[in-house]
Amino acid sequence: MKQFQYLRPATQQAVLDVINKPGTKIIAGGTNLVDLMKRGVATPDKLVDINHLPLKNITITKTGLHIGALALNSVVSENDLVAKKQPLLAMALKAGASPQLRNMATVGGNMMQRTRCGYFYDTTMPCNKRVPGSGCGAYEGVNRMHAIFGGSEQCIAVHPSDMCVSLAALDAEVIIAGKKGERRLPFTEFHRLPGDHPEMDNQLTAGELIIGVEIPDNNFSKNSYYLKVRDRQSYAFALVSVAAALDIENGIIQHARLAMGGVAHKPWRLFDAERSLIGKPASEDNFKQAAQLAMQGAKGYGYNSFKLKLGPATIAEALKHAAGLV
Ligand code: SF4
Repeated sequence: MKQFQYLRPATQQAVLDVINKPGTKIIAGGTNLVDLMKRGVATPDKLVDINHLPLKNITITKTGLHIGALALNSVVSENDLVAKKQPLLAMALKAGASPQLRNMATVGGNMMQRTRCGYFYDTTMPCNKRVPGSGCGAYEGVNRMHAIFGGSEQCIAVHPSDMCVSLAALDAEVIIAGKKGERRLPFTEFHRLPGDHPEMDNQLTAGELIIGVEIPDNNFSKNSYYLKVRDRQSYAFALVSVAAALDIENGIIQHARLAMGGVAHKPWRLFDAERSLIGKPASEDNFKQAAQLAMQGAKGYGYNSFKLKLGPATIAEALKHAAGLV
């Protein structure tokens, strides 16, 4: 591993003063970054440890639920406020990684984790995300885990998070601090599609720090479900996952939220399918129709073409669970 300098600035302001320098990376739980450094994929000159910053709070605000960027995945998943107000988030977190990793991983780090595309981690292989312009090993290679939505000829990697899929579905906002103050971004806009710049995963700019997320109040706590299809029941990334949330009154859907994981470079929100459900009975037939609608524009690349059938089946099943039909 390349040698690096370790810094632990005392305050958030002091962190902001040092993180805009080239070659600087922030470390919190380190559950992804340390792997990347061991393999020579990430080679920072300086690591800025932020674990001591006061960003672990989980609190009710006037408009929703605030979760600090350094709250541990394990703590958030077991928190009473989260269980009561946003159980979809707790379900997604418990589906992710392993108990040991959830005990180290933070909310902000979960958002910043990088793709698990095998070519990205293998420094002997071409990968536009790791070395722009070097090619994409997965496009015509082993792409079983890869995207069916939003890919480009440059990259068809997927974002690996479960937590982020639920936060995208729940209309969360990302709270970001920078030298000019704070800004907020809809969670659905935080991660990018690859386009011609797959090396960029998200909209964070140099010198910025995620300090928290906020989930607005909603009526989804009774009818939500996170369904993850994977090769093993534990410690495996999603082949396809679905976060489904419904607001149902007298059997009729008032509002719906749907997002998929394991299918795109970002959590993939299914806006058309959501709209198609509003005003309709919460029935299996309507869920299947919405699932078919959600797959418009999906494209397989060979080994991952099974996701074109697995996707709609998973959406319909997640909606059935959310509606209490299973
Ligand atoms: Fe690299 Fe993206 Fe291609 Fe994977 S899919 S090899 S991450 S460019």
